[in-house]
Amino acid sequence: MKRSLQRRDQPSVGETKPSSEPRHKENSLTELGAEAKACKACDLWKNATQTVFGEGTESAEVVFIGEQPGDREDIEGRPFVGPAGKVFNSALDEAGIDRTKVYITNAVKHFKWTPAPRGKRRIHQKPNELEIAACLPWLEAELRIVKPAIVVCLGATAAQSVLGKSFRLMRQHGEILSSPLARAVMATIHPSAVLRTPDEASRRSQMALLVGDLKKVSNVLSHGSHTPGGRNHRQSPLR
Ligand code: SF4
Repeated sequence: MKRSLQRRDQPSVGETKPSSEPRHKENSLTELGAEAKACKACDLWKNATQTVFGEGTESAEVVFIGEQPGDREDIEGRPFVGPAGKVFNSALDEAGIDRTKVYITNAVKHFKWTPAPRGKRRIHQKPNELEIAACLPWLEAELRIVKPAIVVCLGATAAQSVLGKSFRLMRQHGEILSSPLARAVMATIHPSAVLRTPDEASRRSQMALLVGDLKKVSNVLSHGSHTPGGRNHRQSPLR
């Protein structure tokens, strides 16, 4: 089915609209992903190996949204296959969520990086508001096709892209919110936050937080319940 992309009146992040936006005529995730390979709506494609589009089943009940591909993902062309992806897989396992039944994507589809002062390492750089806004139409299109029961934002970048700049991750993580995006929306920490902790005790506590939040997702999926507080978070044209 041919669809035209519907934009918000304002970008969800940043004050400026991207000068060049992707235009989609998506029929399926496969076609959308193929189209995204040629995207040049912001400058991030220039230093990246390839577009890393979302991955998973079109009938997924849950869509996970991370920030952007990392070094490994950029090379392999698949989301969440690097060290953070391993943490994510363990957290999903512990929470009882089957990765093969979900859809996983990023708010930004190209790897943003800077060279390390010494050596060949590529250091992750946070995408800016303009880049996130430029990439938002791809995310919106993915969500329109999948139509998940619940959207889970992993980390502050994804949360603010979907839930707005006023969203405070560490205060509001794990809250099941109502949204036009899906029956429910929740945000939790990005799995890379577990890796960034300085010691084993903090690692365990960050992992427990992530797994605890993912168990709430599992609950929503198994009971079909949502939005216990009924809080509505921002309007979106997605539905
Ligand atoms: S980051 Fe997103 S908007 Fe920018 S070039 Fe890549 S796919 Fe296009």
